[in-house]
Amino acid sequence: MLDIRWIREHEEMVQRAAEQKGIPLSVADLLALDQERRLRLQEIERLRQDRNKQSGHMKQLIQQGKQDDAEAIRAAVKQINHTLAGLEDELARQEEAFQSLLLQVPNIVSPDTPFGRSDADNVEIRRVGETPCFGFQALDHAALGSLHRIIDMPRGVKTAGTRNYYLLGAGALLHRAVQQLAVDLLLRKGFTLLEVPLLVRTDALRNTGFFPTGQDQTYRVAEEDKWLVGTSEVPLVSYYSNEIVDLPQPIRLAAVSQCFRSEVGSAGKDVHGLYRVHQFAKVEQVIICQASLELSEQLLQELTANAEELLQRLELSYRVMAVCTGDMSQKTYKQYDLECWMPSRQAYGETHSSSNLLDFQARRSNIRYRDEQGRPVFCYTLNNTAVASPRILIPLLENHQEEDGSIRIPEALRPYMSGLERLVPPK
Ligand code: AMP
Repeated sequence: MLDIRWIREHEEMVQRAAEQKGIPLSVADLLALDQERRLRLQEIERLRQDRNKQSGHMKQLIQQGKQDDAEAIRAAVKQINHTLAGLEDELARQEEAFQSLLLQVPNIVSPDTPFGRSDADNVEIRRVGETPCFGFQALDHAALGSLHRIIDMPRGVKTAGTRNYYLLGAGALLHRAVQQLAVDLLLRKGFTLLEVPLLVRTDALRNTGFFPTGQDQTYRVAEEDKWLVGTSEVPLVSYYSNEIVDLPQPIRLAAVSQCFRSEVGSAGKDVHGLYRVHQFAKVEQVIICQASLELSEQLLQELTANAEELLQRLELSYRVMAVCTGDMSQKTYKQYDLECWMPSRQAYGETHSSSNLLDFQARRSNIRYRDEQGRPVFCYTLNNTAVASPRILIPLLENHQEEDGSIRIPEALRPYMSGLERLVPPK
């Protein structure tokens, strides 16, 4: 959320950000509503003062025994109260409309963000690693999964509907191994690991910027009036909501969690295999830091580098993309996506998303620190995937397959796979 005072002074910039991100919002309407509610508030204040003055006068008249005069004023006070009640109702309605519009306001975008309408306009920054050139008929991950009996899509659908799956045996082990590798990497980088709530209140999703815009992507547990998170970014950032934190150093948090996504709007898209599913596991990195553009830029690079290190340890080729305005979410100021080479797609596919949000989340979540003068200031927040599985199994299985159908396990994963060097298809 942006500060309304700041929006008043930067109307054009905020309107431009909304247009660039494809968010249908009129900042002029928001400011008109803001003006109306402030005028209404002033009117209410004036009437309250008038009422208090009249009430004081009335008490004096009663003490002086001037009952008739006091009665006249009592009638006037009653009339003011009646008018006030009407105005207060109106103000409550205006305030609600204003707050709901304010929640639609996007974060501004960094000056170096490329302009574009969709992911097709994202700009490649660098490529790392060689893409494999198979001298044999390579299989896609779903076929490899069936061959090795480590991925079972039909039974996933039988039990839980479309976009569901089972991982079994070495598939389930690989899934856990990539997560533990990511956790160990983050622990070495000074991150604190948290086990977090996954069924959360509406406030947590609104305050972290996922609601109201992403509400249809989120599963609601109606009896509890709570929601299943689509990412542990929500409980990680919310850990400090409504608090003043000590920030001599940035706070680095990580969590491993299941993520649940309805994937509304993606019907017919990525229906094959494990690419787009309703439930997956993610190791997430979150950083909370002081409000400094320079520091947050450094930390965005750090979060991105952590993910790149993981991909290099998995021996995968990938590219780093500067995400364009039209492919960014409402809350993002600057974003990089990492995309791994996926042979079955003959294309790079997104596996990581690294974002700097400035104080957008912290303002909504009310997370502050004290500056050198002791004044409370909203923090900046950033996040990135460390690893998301099973999507990462797509490049892992497909890139490391060999002609005889076996799959080489990258060295970094072997300690987490009881030393296993390759998966050999069962007879
Ligand atoms: P996000 O939290 O939306 O930035 O996504 C982070 C990463 O989670 C993506 O880059 C994917 O690797 C993974 N991911 C997101 N949505 C899905 C999904 N529906 N199925 C599988 N993996 C997903």
